[in-house]
Amino acid sequence: MPYNTDYLQKQADRYVEQLINKTVNGQIVTAYKSSLAVIKKEMAVIAEKYEVNGVLTYAEMTKYNRLNSTLNTVIEELKNLNRTVRKESIALAGVAYEESFFRYGYAIARGSNLNISFGLVNPYTIKAAVNLPFSGLTMTQLFERASQETIWKTQQAITQGLIQGTSYGKIAREIKDVLGTSLKRAMLIARTEASRAATQGQLALYEEAESDGIEMTRIWSAALDDRTRDAHGEMDGKHADKDGLFHYEGSDPAFSGMTTEGPGLWGDAAMDINCRCRVYAEVAGYPTKYRRVNGTVQDYMDYPEWYEKYGKKKK
Ligand SMILES: [Zn+2]
Repeated sequence: MPYNTDYLQKQADRYVEQLINKTVNGQIVTAYKSSLAVIKKEMAVIAEKYEVNGVLTYAEMTKYNRLNSTLNTVIEELKNLNRTVRKESIALAGVAYEESFFRYGYAIARGSNLNISFGLVNPYTIKAAVNLPFSGLTMTQLFERASQETIWKTQQAITQGLIQGTSYGKIAREIKDVLGTSLKRAMLIARTEASRAATQGQLALYEEAESDGIEMTRIWSAALDDRTRDAHGEMDGKHADKDGLFHYEGSDPAFSGMTTEGPGLWGDAAMDINCRCRVYAEVAGYPTKYRRVNGTVQDYMDYPEWYEKYGKKKK
């Protein structure tokens, strides 16, 4: 097995991606499933008690404050869900930052046979990085806004369903749809922010390595899949300038002249949301030979080559 910085950096990249997938597709999905089950159960109990001829009516439900008490239970559950998802996502972003820092540090020191070691990351540095409002809002605010909308839509589904005299089954299906949309949004926020934090951890490490005198070039590496933005496909293989900035010089006039330190850090939703591109450093004396392709580390190919071989999105 090749044991150089290029290969080890691609391994680090793979590790961090798997870490993000595990939380986003695991804990976050599970939290939503569990809340949906709680809400459906609450609605089923209500239906069993108060349904008249298979219909749950507004008139029945507004008796004795039943509706308010049901809504309060549902809203409380959705607030709990938001707390859980937000906590998991913030923790994930912190871990992504830290793991990136250490794994890329290892890849550079050991993989380049350099006798250096990188210090510990200050937890406050991580916290500050994770809390940066890169999209204009902090992670907490992004989740808060998303949760508020989920609450309103759920409340609307229940109340409107009752007014229109629909069945429990139909209301339950609507709630499921609302939570399904909400889950997708939560996953998007978690993934975007964790990926950004991973880049920040990596850049902090590169800065430290450079200040230790290691010569390196930062290179943009587009995610090799069909969901990659065309603009980021164009960025693939581009080098950062001496200040560590990447310049967009591709064909889309909407982005022309934009610069960034790395993927997820443009400060523009159209460039940042759900970006899965990475940056990596080519250490002097260790030319790029490997690339993470379809989940494994393989011989290098650039984005157009990958596209030719595996791409499905036809222009
Ligand atoms: Zn990208």
